[in-house]
Amino acid sequence: MSFVNCDKFGYDPAHIQRRLRILELSEQDFAYAGRLQKEVIVPHFSQIMNAFMDKMLNQAEVQSFLTDADSQKRVKTTITAFLLSLGSGFDSASYFDHRLMVGMAHEKVGLSLSMYLCAYRMLTQTIIDHFPPSLCADQQEYARLVGFLYKINTLDMSLAIETYHNTHVHSLKESIGDLQAREVELKQQAITDSLTGMINHEHVFTELARVLSAAQREQIPLCVVMADLDHFKKVNDNYGHQAGDTVLEETSSRIKSSLRDFDLVGRYGGEEFMILLVNSTMDTAGMVAERIRKKVGNIPMPLKDQDITVTISMGIAAAGSNDSVETLVARADKALYNAKHGGRNQVSFL
Ligand code: GH3
Ligand code: MG
Ligand code: MG
Repeated sequence: MSFVNCDKFGYDPAHIQRRLRILELSEQDFAYAGRLQKEVIVPHFSQIMNAFMDKMLNQAEVQSFLTDADSQKRVKTTITAFLLSLGSGFDSASYFDHRLMVGMAHEKVGLSLSMYLCAYRMLTQTIIDHFPPSLCADQQEYARLVGFLYKINTLDMSLAIETYHNTHVHSLKESIGDLQAREVELKQQAITDSLTGMINHEHVFTELARVLSAAQREQIPLCVVMADLDHFKKVNDNYGHQAGDTVLEETSSRIKSSLRDFDLVGRYGGEEFMILLVNSTMDTAGMVAERIRKKVGNIPMPLKDQDITVTISMGIAAAGSNDSVETLVARADKALYNAKHGGRNQVSFL
């Protein structure tokens, strides 16, 4: 038979035995468990229950949980099961499993752990208050039975504390996990252009600074391509802003599909893109740019009602050993300007 809660909290037989040893609960205690049920709890069950409920309902903290008859009935059912099994078979996995379940149930309804532990003491005292006179007269037996109650009470409390602790740690871990996921999401959002999904203007500069210094340090070629759609304003004017957005999305996906995995592209401005071709000479960059130019300009872009043809101009600058981000971008910009003035839909180099 498997015990879900024991499994959850790691109460295998060895762990159960260790806990019983620490509490000095031994075989002799079975007799006290039996006496406790037979001579105290069963014959005085209603009195114990009523006295305990009265004490509990006097506590403001508890009242808020037991406002209606229904919840009081539920608590009584739990306490009944709890009382009538108190100490019975305390060395069994089913006893541990039940106590863990009771702890979790109380945590779930929002009873504080401190109030829960106080209630344990209250219940124990209520049981002691109902010891029959014959038992109280026998000092030795009285002391042993109270000693047993003390041990079993501590066992129950130790399990309750564990359930509360575990549940809180679990929910804290969940919150931390949620926050970490949210942090990753926000960081990603902060560097992403929402329309195209490309990295944004700020981040493409950050990336440019990184790849430029690496290229200069390791003496590998790097080319920067500035790309700008031709007469894009007319697209907006003729087909509407929404159509313009569709063209931007389509253009960005055509650019991305023309690049290698390690190349970088960002949305530099409205209809301008900056492409960083790592480990590319001017020749290679020229071929890549030509590929982009054809992919954008030669295949009409599908809009809602019709297809339209949009062309793109590009300016390329190769990084030199003395270039800064600013000088390199200024050269690529100048090359783009030349491409525009040369008639658009073309690639220019500087
Ligand atoms: P040129 O060939 O000289 O580049 O001409 P152009 O019309 O493309 O250039 P211009 O810079 O005059 O116009 C760019 C237009 O891009 C203007 C602006 O309304 C539009 N634009 C900028 N951002 C967006 C956007 O996110 N969505 C849409 N639909 N249009 C945008
Ligand atoms: Mg333009
Ligand atoms: Mg522009």
